[in-house]
Amino acid sequence: MEGGCDHITHVHDVKHPTKRQCDECVPMGARWVHLRTCQECGTTLCCDSSPNKHASRHARTVHHPVVASAEPGERWLYCYPDEAYVEY
Ligand SMILES: [Zn+2]
Ligand SMILES: [Zn+2]
Ligand SMILES: [Zn+2]
Repeated sequence: MEGGCDHITHVHDVKHPTKRQCDECVPMGARWVHLRTCQECGTTLCCDSSPNKHASRHARTVHHPVVASAEPGERWLYCYPDEAYVEY
């Protein structure tokens, strides 16, 4: 992989969402725009266009760098600390 991200290269089997909902917005009754699935623990959280930005907060607080889009038809991975984007 070019660009200095070692995280995405370690993703072999892309994790997909078990439910198409943000695991942290649902108990809060909050809304989201798009969903991302953490490639370390498989939790599905909301994107940075959503009011609560749970996916990037999760990446920072528990150091799980890579998410996959959980949107139907989108096939890409993103590493937050390296700002690396890869389609698969
Ligand atoms: Zn990375
Ligand atoms: Zn959320
Ligand atoms: Zn995680």
